[in-house]
Amino acid sequence: MRERRARRRAEKAKAAEAEALRQAALDEKYMKEALKQAKKAAELGEVPIGCVVVYGEKIIGRGYNRRNTDKSTLSHAEITALRRAGKVIGDWRLEGCTLYVTLEPCQMCAGAIVQARVDRVVMGCMNPKAGCAGSILNMLQMQEFNHQAEVTRGICEEECSKILTEFFSGLRKRLKNPMVDKQG
Ligand SMILES: [Zn+2]
Repeated sequence: MRERRARRRAEKAKAAEAEALRQAALDEKYMKEALKQAKKAAELGEVPIGCVVVYGEKIIGRGYNRRNTDKSTLSHAEITALRRAGKVIGDWRLEGCTLYVTLEPCQMCAGAIVQARVDRVVMGCMNPKAGCAGSILNMLQMQEFNHQAEVTRGICEEECSKILTEFFSGLRKRLKNPMVDKQG
């Protein structure tokens, strides 16, 4: 009797571990998709930040930062991805969805994520000077609001951070010597 219970417990632990590994692999896969979006922003000379929204293991919304191109503060990666996901789902409520973003969301995007009732948010790197998902404050998990999201941090962190530092060092070089980049 006791043996059977122990065996069942071990099987349960093994299954939980397998599920955690499966989820970690999926998180990496979707963060790489968010990174692809960030690269689109870099191609436009925008700060490279990318986002995807996933529902049932399917990407239903993609977005990348286009703030300068669109001349709009609303053109953050997350807002675009949320808008597209809403169109696919046919509802502003994105329950059951996971949002992947390469950089910790700002106050506007964290607010929109809570408003949309997104289940889970997965982040690449943190943004100590502007992030509102754990750095300055954690809007995604305030008990005072009617919704809290599950949060995972540090997925593909190095890659997400590298794309930003490369962008900014390239920008500094171009500012110092405009002839380096003739397209700029
Ligand atoms: Zn934002």
